[in-house]
Amino acid sequence: MAFEYRNGSLHADAVDLNQLAHDYGTPLYVYSAQQIRANWKQFADHWPQPHQLCYAVKANSNLGVLHLLAQLGAGFDIVSGGELARVIAAGGKASATVFSGVGKSKEEIAYALEQGIGCFNVESAAELERINEIAAAKGVMAPVSFRVNPDVDAQTHPYIATGLKANKFGIAMQHAKTVIRRGAEMSHIHVKGVDCHIGSQILTTQPFLDAADRMLQLIADVRAEGIEITHLDMGGGVGIPYQQEKSPAVSEYLQALLAKAAQFDNLTLMLEPGRAIVGNAGVLLSKVEYYKPGEEKNFLLVDAGMNDLLRPALYQAYHQIVAVNEVPESSPSDRLVDVVGPVCETGDFFGHARHLSANQDDIIAILNAGAYGFTMSSNYNTRPRAAEVIVDGDQIHLVRQRERLADLWKGESIMGAKQ
Ligand SMILES: *Cc1c(COP(=O)(O)O)cnc(C)c1O
Repeated sequence: MAFEYRNGSLHADAVDLNQLAHDYGTPLYVYSAQQIRANWKQFADHWPQPHQLCYAVKANSNLGVLHLLAQLGAGFDIVSGGELARVIAAGGKASATVFSGVGKSKEEIAYALEQGIGCFNVESAAELERINEIAAAKGVMAPVSFRVNPDVDAQTHPYIATGLKANKFGIAMQHAKTVIRRGAEMSHIHVKGVDCHIGSQILTTQPFLDAADRMLQLIADVRAEGIEITHLDMGGGVGIPYQQEKSPAVSEYLQALLAKAAQFDNLTLMLEPGRAIVGNAGVLLSKVEYYKPGEEKNFLLVDAGMNDLLRPALYQAYHQIVAVNEVPESSPSDRLVDVVGPVCETGDFFGHARHLSANQDDIIAILNAGAYGFTMSSNYNTRPRAAEVIVDGDQIHLVRQRERLADLWKGESIMGAKQ
């Protein structure tokens, strides 16, 4: 593992996290390049060409992370025009990028066509019409896949389950054929594939395999009508252990998918993993500001807040929290604390009732913060967003500077001021 205690303190690869906190300040996101590569390899090793892996950019969209993955041959899965611009800025290829998302604007569609997007993952009949019109106006063919909602229960948190009938995502299975037929008739649509994404943080393979069976049946039916579907994109969603959960069996999952798809001629498989690539490759470092004993609870107030890492507040997500100074097993001096931030919200917490041995000015590490960490951060309470560092062996790369206060009101003005 990339994050381990050595000589009394937690390290990222060969780098002491106390040293990083000292040199770059806190809150600080630290990512391990070696862990990202290892996670990528876990998928890529079981995914022979021509099958494709498209990293889901929204999990962690730092240019340094995207560049590292582009060098490993990653394609990308994006959900906005902004993410496409990031992929291109990081050296990724638009042609190896798929564009997901339920509300693509005209501007985003036009931009993606101009850049030569690999595929639009279409989420509704109305979006299909819009893409056809914009492609026609440009005189180009738009490559599309149809995001179908396979109606399987991913058994995950309701906010990150996306494959049930009641969700806003995708085209309902019973309408899928109608929409695909319509696409096949359109002058500027090139029908390429079908896709699904049933949710996130899924820890067993069965929901994915159930969804795959439904999607493959759809492909068989549509092909029987003479519409040539050439890829199946099964989306992302592979979970990681945040507590003591068992890791999902990634290689078994990929091999089961490959075996199912092998029964079809000329069918390429795609996946869009996000969390599984970067989640355990990042930590959020924070400094203890105060220890505040209370009547019922003791609080450890730290300098990171929900604006830096939203997952606990948004999904009641669990993150392991450790002191960067190793606690000797012989003298456990820890106490029971709620780890909370400085933001003016009761939801601003990182963990309840944790045993933690840390005092004022000590550094703590919130683990498994590499996915949906920085990307969900905000400036709430006028707090500058954290800096980001990638560690690679003993090398340290500052891949995002800490925001300065003046950055926070850039573009604002008082009423009546000349623009
Ligand atoms: C968020 C998302 C992903 C990535 O999900 P993970 O759970 O991080 O693997 C993949 N595809 C789509 C369409 C998404 O919205």
